[in-house]
Amino acid sequence: MRVAVVGGGIIGLSSALRLAQIGRDVTVLTASPPEGTTSMVAGGLIYPRHAEPADRCARWTEVSFAEFQRLAAVPGTGVRLLPGRLLRRTERPLPVWADAVGGIIRRIDVDDPWADSLDFSPPLVDTERYLTWLAAEVAAAGVRTEYREVPSLDGIRADLVVNAAGLDGGRLAGDDSVTPARGQVVHVADPGLTEWVVDEDDFSYVLPHGDYVVCGGTEELGSGDLAPDPATTGDILRRCAKLVPELAGAEPLRVRVGLRPHRPEIRLERVGDVIHCYGHGGTGVTLSWGCAAEVTSLAV
Ligand SMILES: Cc1cc2nc3c(=O)[nH]c(=O)nc-3n(C[C@H](O)[C@H](O)[C@H](O)COP(=O)(O)OP(=O)(O)OC[C@H]3O[C@@H](n4cnc5c(N)ncnc54)[C@H](O)[C@@H]3O)c2cc1C
Repeated sequence: MRVAVVGGGIIGLSSALRLAQIGRDVTVLTASPPEGTTSMVAGGLIYPRHAEPADRCARWTEVSFAEFQRLAAVPGTGVRLLPGRLLRRTERPLPVWADAVGGIIRRIDVDDPWADSLDFSPPLVDTERYLTWLAAEVAAAGVRTEYREVPSLDGIRADLVVNAAGLDGGRLAGDDSVTPARGQVVHVADPGLTEWVVDEDDFSYVLPHGDYVVCGGTEELGSGDLAPDPATTGDILRRCAKLVPELAGAEPLRVRVGLRPHRPEIRLERVGDVIHCYGHGGTGVTLSWGCAAEVTSLAV
């Protein structure tokens, strides 16, 4: 069976690999190489922030979590397990995914303005290294890649098409419920941080990858502007230095902007000879292996 996967971001590449592993003849059609995707901008924390449909997202997270834990032991993947803290400004019940991440330790002896801290050790993915590794795995599995923009899903020569085109997935499917949610991050040199930190309530985060740290962030629903904003860069660095004082005075190495493919619910379903898998918003890295497994199960 010939399968065409439209999209070479984390969703398309993970799906292509799994499909090749069950013996499908797979071609990836992508407008850009991995470095031109939203996936490569992602901070890479495997963290099930809320996404819908909640029950399916919980299952996808569980599958992904296990696979990223396995990959953390494989050299060259850019995945490692790192302890960290999720800071919250009001005390709230433990999240429903507490067990899925291998257990959470709650601390309430944290300084103002935070009310509590959830400590756990999820996989942290250096998306630049990881997507390079993943693209190489995909090629090694016999998948061909064609760099071209697909104007429409009609007319693609394949027995089955996977629509994994991220933000463009909606347009290709005739679905107008996908909108960009702009995110800006700043990379600074890693001074040797040994944990990640996220302020869940003001969207600030510090994700160390060994040689650089991803400092974030922003989420501007409806903005499709890919130009970095210098005022936002300054604001992110100020917020991150408050979270992690070692970052005070850090100079930006580079600034990245990505457009999360926001949709009220992630769409993963088969309609005839098309499997739609898009609209992952801010959780596409976290859900990637779980979604790839379901895409594969629909490709029989
Ligand atoms: C700042 C930021 C931080 C983030 N941090 C995290 C995080 O810590 N954890 C997490 O889980 N998620 C995070 N995310 C979310 C994550 O990046 C996305 O959910 C994920 O990248 C979506 O992957 P995708 O493959 O669907 O889309 P993309 O990566 O955008 O890939 C889409 C692909 O489709 C191709 N394409 C599009 N249209 C066409 C067409 N017509 N023809 C051919 N090819 C086409 C593109 O070229 C691209 O290859 C973050 C996002 C941002 C912006």
